[in-house]
Amino acid sequence: MQYKNSLTFAKQQDKEDVLYHLRNLFHIPKDKKGDEWLYFTGNSLGLQPKSTKRYINQELEDWAILGVEGHFEAKNPWLNYHELLTDKMAKVVGAKPIEVVVMNTLTTNLHLLMVSFYRPTKTKYKIVIESDAFPSDRYAVESQLKFHGFSSDDIIEWKPRKGEELLNIEDLQKIVSEQGDEIALLLIGGVNYYTGQFLDLKRVAKIGHSKDCVVGIDLAHGAGNIQPNLHESNVDFAAWCTYKYLNSGPGSLGGVFVHERHANNKDLPRFSGWWNHNKETRFNMRQPFDVMKGAEGWQLSNPPILSMAAIKASLDLFDEVGMDALREKSEKLTGYLEYLIGEIDSDDIKIITPHNPHERGCQLSIQVKNADKSLHKKLTENNIITDWREPNVIRCAPVPMYTSFEDVYRMVFILKGLL
Ligand SMILES: *Cc1c(COP(=O)(O)O)cnc(C)c1O
Repeated sequence: MQYKNSLTFAKQQDKEDVLYHLRNLFHIPKDKKGDEWLYFTGNSLGLQPKSTKRYINQELEDWAILGVEGHFEAKNPWLNYHELLTDKMAKVVGAKPIEVVVMNTLTTNLHLLMVSFYRPTKTKYKIVIESDAFPSDRYAVESQLKFHGFSSDDIIEWKPRKGEELLNIEDLQKIVSEQGDEIALLLIGGVNYYTGQFLDLKRVAKIGHSKDCVVGIDLAHGAGNIQPNLHESNVDFAAWCTYKYLNSGPGSLGGVFVHERHANNKDLPRFSGWWNHNKETRFNMRQPFDVMKGAEGWQLSNPPILSMAAIKASLDLFDEVGMDALREKSEKLTGYLEYLIGEIDSDDIKIITPHNPHERGCQLSIQVKNADKSLHKKLTENNIITDWREPNVIRCAPVPMYTSFEDVYRMVFILKGLL
């Protein structure tokens, strides 16, 4: 197998890669001398498709020429612009179109969904999250608990076992079996931002539902990375952002999933605005409120078209390629990164992400001995863009859209030199 550890082999893999051409459709950042960075942080901010500018310019021009008439007369009329994103976004996350809408941003959406799906009673009010949940999710959950008169002590943490880094689904089963009568909601990261672990969502949903707990999933690190099959998984709701793997630009809008079984439940309590009112009568302005069905029934406001244009540019690419092909490449590419790191003879680093490709997306989390942050700094000085996450991990995501096998080879070659 030694031959795999060579630039020739990596270049050959690129030649055989049917998705290699996609790389040319993205702007790859460069250093001051004009050398391309080796970009491994598409899990934090995805790169810009070259087509994005054209999509945004279209809307700027329509606005300049048409003013308010653009709502109806623009090439892509703004009134229903979000509908142009729905089918493609639904495919990315394995949902039915009625289950998906693009709106707001991730943490905002988690709150709006909890308004409907976190309905605590005096006896059933606790919320389960992973001990290593993303801070924003933890703060959101804490504030929901307090809003309802409970406290942050009412969070139940699903923790890795002593001496382990990853979550064990048996432990979630145990928590829910033992305390399920007190638990109202499970809000779990589908792919953990720190370890890169991808959970079996169907199993998480089944465990939660066995004790009548609502199950919500944060897919920030899943959307555009793994195939969560949200409809099949049977979770109640999910939310994600589009600026990570979905390459839609900093702070761009998020996506929301509400399972079809809730689509026609007009009795679910929710916050409302004119944008979740029946679009046929929205502009009559004086109708009694009539909520839209499906995920669209959680919208509040008319959305920012410029952000949606960037999402459309990106989703058109995802649609052309398809998640099946992306995942196929992704498994090979991440497998290659894992193999090459494994060849380095050093106990200063250790991959904590699951080895099984079905339990991870493209990200590998590399734990650094003694939390030596200088290694990350040195990588950056060598034009390798990864990120450091406290306490001791370098996250490294070879995203299949624009990362080559050669990039991966070069990255590990430099890393090896630094160790
Ligand atoms: C990136 C990320 C967020 C960020 O939330 P915003 O509301 O988009 O700022 C939240 N949760 C998780 C799990 C994330 O990975």
